[in-house]
Amino acid sequence: MPHTLFISDLHLSADHPHSTAAFQRFIATLAPQAEALYILGDLFEYWAGDDDRHDPFHAEVIAALHGLATHDVKIYLMHGNRDLLMGDALAQAAGATLLDDPTLLDLYGMPTLISHGDKLCTDDVEYQKFRVQVHDATFQKNFLAQPLAERKAYIEQLRKQSNAAKQSKGSAIMDVNVDAVATLLREYRYPRLIHGHTHRPKRHEHVVDGHRCERWVLSDWDQQLSALRCDAQGCRVISF
Ligand code: MN
Repeated sequence: MPHTLFISDLHLSADHPHSTAAFQRFIATLAPQAEALYILGDLFEYWAGDDDRHDPFHAEVIAALHGLATHDVKIYLMHGNRDLLMGDALAQAAGATLLDDPTLLDLYGMPTLISHGDKLCTDDVEYQKFRVQVHDATFQKNFLAQPLAERKAYIEQLRKQSNAAKQSKGSAIMDVNVDAVATLLREYRYPRLIHGHTHRPKRHEHVVDGHRCERWVLSDWDQQLSALRCDAQGCRVISF
């Protein structure tokens, strides 16, 4: 049956051979059977800029995606909070199309909104301030003007701080805010919602203005190797 796959939060890096092997296996076995593959952010542990696409590890991941694209699987990439600097050069090399966050799809007749999900975590006020800063076009332009090695060193530093901050933040504030979800669903006329980011894979239901909306949270690949498979009959999680 024609179907579409959704994945996110792979956090691929040369330091995580387990996830990388799983990715290569996924690309070789499950992905070619789909019509389309949507990667809803945080494909990479971090992305310092498209000039880093020639790094041997990155080049391997990009080549795998490009190979899939040549097998007639449409590939769509959305930015996560870690790889928000993915640009057109990377997308082109991977044979993929970059999407805005959020994007509304007509998925086999079912309106489906896709998002990375970090914007919905409105309880984490500190993170949302940071998010506004790093999404600023001037900030990004200035950042990308620095030498690649400096950018990578800076991001490594940020990651250490972020890991330390995560230890002290309550787990509830790092989940999505239910009111933010309802507002988004209302804005897009009550679609199905698919997102990642929180690493809390689950199917939720939200009733908004009397409309029942399904919300699928994708798994990260550290905890659970899975993808969401959607066809005309609905969505289900496939593990591998
Ligand atoms: Mn994320």
